[in-house]
Amino acid sequence: MSENRKVLSGKIVVASHNAGKVTEINELVAAFGIETISAADLNLPEPEEAGDTFIANAELKALAAAQAAGLPALADDSGLAVDALGGAPGIHSARWAEGDIEKGETPGRDFERAMRKVEEALTRIPDAPRTAHFVCALTLAWPDGHCESFEGKVYGELVWPPRGDLGFGYDPVFQPDGLAKTFGEIQPEMKHAMSHRAAAFQKLVTACLKD
Ligand code: IMP
Repeated sequence: MSENRKVLSGKIVVASHNAGKVTEINELVAAFGIETISAADLNLPEPEEAGDTFIANAELKALAAAQAAGLPALADDSGLAVDALGGAPGIHSARWAEGDIEKGETPGRDFERAMRKVEEALTRIPDAPRTAHFVCALTLAWPDGHCESFEGKVYGELVWPPRGDLGFGYDPVFQPDGLAKTFGEIQPEMKHAMSHRAAAFQKLVTACLKD
């Protein structure tokens, strides 16, 4: 018998301010008769991602929202881990896209810049393997502090130059194992069937959204 705590009806907070992630999560949980409300709709502040693992960050985001709203809350944290770079950019995947004003870079998030930084770091390592994986951690948290967390991964390799303008973030340089196209070259439905986020969602559904 499963020991996981479940949400089988009622409302949950989707603890993300990223519209794309909110849509994806809404679609997933709607199929289980669960209503959602976003952290942005509730004007909840976004906590700082101060954890040092994907799960720690997903937990702190989900817990902050659950405790502020008095409802169960679902949060995710994700990123790209490159083997030859010791797992970087990892939990700092979004940060690698930020411009460093002191280095004369334009401010703001730019994923062409982030992909270039990864490529430059790889080319500095002789014979570096180009293997990498995306990670997604998902946490469902309750106002009493209980958390259920799940992690999904998808393995592949990095290509250069980037290919395709679909998807987001590092998708144009990530070619999943068994496919000759990058995540930037495939339709969203195909990506969603094989992605790290889909794998984590599947585990969460089985453990917490099904009787
Ligand atoms: P966070 O989870 O909002 O902290 O941001 C994770 C970052 O990882 C995103 O801004 C993307 O750069 C990257 N990332 C996570 N998942 C994906 C994906 O499916 N494709 C491309 N990039 C991703």
